Amino acid sequence: MAPNKIVVVGGGVTGLTTALLLSRDGSNQVTVAAKHMPGDYDIEYCSPWAGANYLPVGEPGSDHAEWEKNTWPVLADLAKNNPRAGIHFQRAVINVRAKDAQSTTGQWFSQLGSSDPWYKNVVPDFRLLSKEELGPNIDSANSFTSVCINTAVYLPWLVSQCLENGVVFKRAVFKHISDAAYVHHSGSKADLVVNCTGLSSRKLGGVEDQKLLPARGQIVVVRNDPGVMASISGSDDADDEVCYIMMRAAGGGTILGGSYQKNNWESQPDPSLAIRIMKRCIELCPDLVGKDENGKQRGIEGLDIIRHGVGLRPLREGGVRLETEKIGGVTVVHNYGHGGFGYQASWGCSAAAVKLVNSALGEKSKARL
Ligand SMILES: Cc1cc2nc3c(=O)[nH]c(=O)nc-3n(C[C@H](O)[C@H](O)[C@H](O)COP(=O)(O)OP(=O)(O)OC[C@H]3O[C@@H](n4cnc5c(N)ncnc54)[C@H](O)[C@@H]3O)c2cc1C
Repeated sequence: MAPNKIVVVGGGVTGLTTALLLSRDGSNQVTVAAKHMPGDYDIEYCSPWAGANYLPVGEPGSDHAEWEKNTWPVLADLAKNNPRAGIHFQRAVINVRAKDAQSTTGQWFSQLGSSDPWYKNVVPDFRLLSKEELGPNIDSANSFTSVCINTAVYLPWLVSQCLENGVVFKRAVFKHISDAAYVHHSGSKADLVVNCTGLSSRKLGGVEDQKLLPARGQIVVVRNDPGVMASISGSDDADDEVCYIMMRAAGGGTILGGSYQKNNWESQPDPSLAIRIMKRCIELCPDLVGKDENGKQRGIEGLDIIRHGVGLRPLREGGVRLETEKIGGVTVVHNYGHGGFGYQASWGCSAAAVKLVNSALGEKSKARL
């Protein structure tokens, strides 16, 4: 049987992972078409800005938790066996303050900081910290082995894996999702389009999903080594400001975060927020800057800044949209709306999208007979 012609719209972690899975067994000819590709930094392109680490946040028993559960073994295998992917293991410490329970960031952390989370048997070395181990103002904490992904290495690695499977990459900007069916590299109309456009699905013709909203994340990338991956459920500065630190693999620098500002579209870093982020990170992890020659703890002047950044997490009310729809005579499989978990759920969500593609194309082949 002739291979299926598929266009994947989107060059972020979602589009690339989906294209990679679709191209593995030779039954599909895949074109990836996108406005932004790895190497670009833009406010309409979330993936390069992510930390990115694996800190599960799905509700127990939900599809979301299942996608995160199914993603861990792949990321762990890459960290262990494939240094070219730019992923390494790191010990994570998740600190919880009881007073954050109802805040925006506390809600985001509610599963992550649970004393009995569903993921305790998924990640290695999970344990609750004893009272003696807790930092000041921290009510409870857990630790486990996580991974940190250097997105500047990992996204190009995904591209290279796709290229090896014959995937063709094209720059394109679509006004309407159905237009994507006409850019397949064979020159023929595609049998199916996969929509991995993230937050842009809010305005993309034929989709216009008003359930999407940005959760703005501001970061500072520094050269300092924290020695640990650490997070706190909230801050006293604002309801939607948080604190997290992780060092990327392969010399990618250390990410200091952050914020989770819903419905905030501002693309430029806020200098005051940047200062609050740096201060909070040093408070959480004084070793980030260490002491001066007189034995005095350094402040933010001890940070060696590489860059400031802002990304808009593609949050969606009701969660990720993984669904098949006929739009303007084109079969479209949607895979967007991954909020702050696009990497840690990437392999699970993409496998679910491939199932939808197979069942849509299966029905199509039957209809042709
Ligand atoms: C500060 C920050 C920290 C984060 N940390 C983590 C973390 O630690 N772990 C984790 O799992 N996740 C994290 N995330 C979330 C993660 O980055 C996102 O969930 C993920 O990047 C979404 O990827 P995506 O491919 O769906 O969307 P995007 O990366 O935004 O890609 C969308 C693609 O669609 C293309 N596109 C859009 N519209 C069109 C159009 N009309 N025509 C053609 N192409 C189009 C774009 O050009 C782009 O290629 C973080 C995010 C931020 C901002």
